Amino acid sequence: MNSPAPTSIPKPAAGGCNDSVIVRERGQREVFCGLTGIVWLHRKLQDAFFLVVGSRTCAHLIQSAAGVMIFAEPRFATAILQERDLAGMADCNEELDRVVNELLARRPEISTLFLVGSCPSEVIKLDLANAAQRLTLSHNGRVRIVNYSGSGIETTFTQGEDNCLKALVPELPGLPESQQSLLVVGTLADVVEDQFVRLFDELGIGPVHFLPPRRATELPPVGPGTRLLLAQPFLGETARALIARGATLLEAPYPFGVEGTLGWLQAAARSFDIGNEQFEAVTAIPAARARRALAHHRDILAGKRISFLPDSQLEIPLARFLQRECGMQPVEVGTPYLDRQMLTSELSLLDSGTRLSEGQHLERQLDRLRSERPDLTVCGLGLANPLEAEGLATKWSIELVFTPIHGFEQAADLAELFCRPLVRRERLRFQTCS
Ligand code: SF4
Repeated sequence: MNSPAPTSIPKPAAGGCNDSVIVRERGQREVFCGLTGIVWLHRKLQDAFFLVVGSRTCAHLIQSAAGVMIFAEPRFATAILQERDLAGMADCNEELDRVVNELLARRPEISTLFLVGSCPSEVIKLDLANAAQRLTLSHNGRVRIVNYSGSGIETTFTQGEDNCLKALVPELPGLPESQQSLLVVGTLADVVEDQFVRLFDELGIGPVHFLPPRRATELPPVGPGTRLLLAQPFLGETARALIARGATLLEAPYPFGVEGTLGWLQAAARSFDIGNEQFEAVTAIPAARARRALAHHRDILAGKRISFLPDSQLEIPLARFLQRECGMQPVEVGTPYLDRQMLTSELSLLDSGTRLSEGQHLERQLDRLRSERPDLTVCGLGLANPLEAEGLATKWSIELVFTPIHGFEQAADLAELFCRPLVRRERLRFQTCS
């Protein structure tokens, strides 16, 4: 019987991309707005309600993105600003108070209400922070009411989660000075959260808390003994707000693929003084199982060229996974924002020759894509169909946020997401030829 492969992290490519020159693009953008985050946040926070203060467009976006029928009593809705509101002819605050009061009377199970700003509410400068304070007082603190922005003005869709979690940071209880804890930040599917809980438990790390928690009434504590482990790379503002409350950020790659998951767990293990032997004993078997599951997909992906158009802010960790564990060749890795503080470990693992771009100038990026014609392009929904029509295989980046992709058990599923469009294209080519 073969002994499991060692779980130590391979050395990064010399220098990595930390000192690489980044192409900075500024121009037309093609991204979803932060309201999209409500889709996964409302599934996680099971006693919270998201009230978007916006237009009919916002209502359509969130309704169709979540795919929930209205009779299912979803935990989100839109307070629609009418033309009179937008023209400044009506008192929006009075109308908002009426909508909130009716909602809370009808849905007594709501423990936390998020007032979510949108482009229209920002344009008319509706002060939702003030509204949240006023409404909290008028409900005698029975319901926590907080606000954040999901507007699409100068933001990208994953920033909605960052804004939402940052809005919760002042609400978190304090962790007593003498205590230590690990705080995992970023929405994880419950099944993935359970897998990580088991691994941390076997490693002897604890107590472990998650932000967001499953119930908004069970907010995790934070203080000088808190070590932060980010599960998503797009939560820089939340991380900085937690650091301001005394927490320490653990530098780690993100838990995508075997290598990323090992590096992520190892950062936590080191900070809790867990020895290498213990670490190997806990991670060797799940890591070996994940490598075996990944091998089949690697056969399909190895040698294929891939480009990322800027969209989800997951681009750099995913490119690292596809390059180092699946043998793909990133042609260009575009990301809407490059937050170096959150990506130091990822950049040092990415091959130093990788072309990185930050921001969007759609026309220029499409020109490069058309001339380079990668085997696979990861992009937003709006670009996928036109690119497919031009003969380019595409992958929707938003699918990578909706699907559980973190951890050992999901490493092969993550690789498979990139295999599917390549396999489909190959089948179509075969049918066309035969
Ligand atoms: S917040 Fe802005 S970008 Fe998003 S749906 Fe509403 S109007 Fe459109």
